[in-house]
Amino acid sequence: MSLGKVARGLVLPARVALRPAAPVLHRSYAAVSEARAVLESELEGIRAAGTWKAERIITSKQGPQINVQGSRSTILNFCANNYLGLSSHPDVVQAGIDALNTHGAGLSSVRFICGTQDLHKNLEQKLAEFHEREDCILYASCFDANAGLFEVLLGPDDAVLSDELNHASIIDGIRLCRAKRLRYKHMDLRDLETKLKEAQSSRLRLVVTDGVFSMDGDVAPLSGICDLADQYGALVFIDECHATGFLGARGRGTDELLGVMDRVHIVNSTLGKALGGAAGGYTVGPKPLIDLLRQRSRPYLFSNSLPPPVVGCALRAVELLLASNEISQSMTAKTMRFRNKMAEAGFTISGLAHPICPVMLGDARLASLMSEDMLKL
Ligand code: PLP
Repeated sequence: MSLGKVARGLVLPARVALRPAAPVLHRSYAAVSEARAVLESELEGIRAAGTWKAERIITSKQGPQINVQGSRSTILNFCANNYLGLSSHPDVVQAGIDALNTHGAGLSSVRFICGTQDLHKNLEQKLAEFHEREDCILYASCFDANAGLFEVLLGPDDAVLSDELNHASIIDGIRLCRAKRLRYKHMDLRDLETKLKEAQSSRLRLVVTDGVFSMDGDVAPLSGICDLADQYGALVFIDECHATGFLGARGRGTDELLGVMDRVHIVNSTLGKALGGAAGGYTVGPKPLIDLLRQRSRPYLFSNSLPPPVVGCALRAVELLLASNEISQSMTAKTMRFRNKMAEAGFTISGLAHPICPVMLGDARLASLMSEDMLKL
């Protein structure tokens, strides 16, 4: 049979397939309208609970003072994770522009195909140096770093012991792995010990905790966790999104603050908060782990490389922090000033000395109304 005949043979059935029968169309309309009704009822539930999350539209750079659509003047911004103000730092912005000029907008590829530039390798090396760990692997976000770690490190013969209030991305990452899952009560060392005893027959044990918990600014009891990990033969993992860059004498994080840098084995963190605020996440830890993540970690293997301007910004932010401790240290005095003045004004601020200063009103709806009033003022 000639190719022409084959092609003619294919054309006719395709045309027929494009003409949908009327009852099929009717069923597909019905499916869409049923789905709409389900979604509308879910949305109504959120509105009725008073927990609807409206997005305010910022028309300026991120910073302590911003412009917001619908507001007549500049307003004070208390809620970004721009801990060190680096997301609009002139050197950081310029580094992003330079990287855009020299390395382009993006790689159109994942890392292992043709998506690794010298910039990516430089940033990985600087982050490993910053955290004093053997090696580093970059991801598009820390959400991805958390999604990609546990499945690679832990198998069905292993156990993972996780704080019950860990970040959603840790919970999702753990769901993807086949290890035995043990959830311990929030920051409760006694309960952790009970769970470690339960996990003694497993091949590997991994204790998993946020270094700082993002809702309340609670700092995990890492010394006690590391003591238990030593006693019961466990590895320790921390998520440092709310600590990297500003906790500890040199801003290295919760492990530096609590004097356990050499006893915490794996750290995940973000470039999307204190380190320039653009985007990206990473894992630092033992070299064989990082090597294995490059071979097997799904969000790394199957998602595009970080764009060069984003890498350029983060690289400059890390260089600034490596060059001097001044920026990291500026945080403490500001935090204490805010906490003390708010307490004097009669508000309840939870947590201790962390810059996450939750103003506790005790009612989500009231908090929402108060934020609207503050915006008007
Ligand atoms: N882990 C914690 C504790 C976080 O607070 C966040 C962000 O909110 C993430 C992970 C995710 O980080 P990223 O924004 O880089 O995905």
